[in-house]
Amino acid sequence: MGYDIHRLEEGRKLVLGGVEIPHTRGLAGHSDGDVLIHAIIDALLGACTQGDIGQHFPDDDPKYKDIASVELLSQIRGLVAKMGRIEHIDCTVVAEAPKLAPHIEDVRRKLGEVLELTDDKISVKAKTAEGLGPVGEGKAIEAYAVALVDL
Ligand code: MG
Repeated sequence: MGYDIHRLEEGRKLVLGGVEIPHTRGLAGHSDGDVLIHAIIDALLGACTQGDIGQHFPDDDPKYKDIASVELLSQIRGLVAKMGRIEHIDCTVVAEAPKLAPHIEDVRRKLGEVLELTDDKISVKAKTAEGLGPVGEGKAIEAYAVALVDL
């Protein structure tokens, strides 16, 4: 399983699951701040007992500054492919705004491309935090992911 949270900031693009989503703010981070991809990477690494995203892509390494997180996911896909086969990925993004429902299919398609998975093997869900906590107040977006990997 993987989890991540990033702050929303002015002057950044909002990228979720490798898809740019129109919004007034974007996610802060050393990379593009793609919280969904970071959660998926941690889920995949966890399934393979390969540590976490920070060990593979340190956030003080200039090499990863502003990198598209799909690039990181692609590298992790290569690592996982040496160890086994991804059977299924399920994720939930929690965001107060913008409405993610219109973008879910684009996100599933993008993740399927990067992970070389058919779309029956990748599920993305979105919900709000009902106005509660920093996510509910629109200060951050968080994501949860579960990966099933046949080793
Ligand atoms: Mg992150």
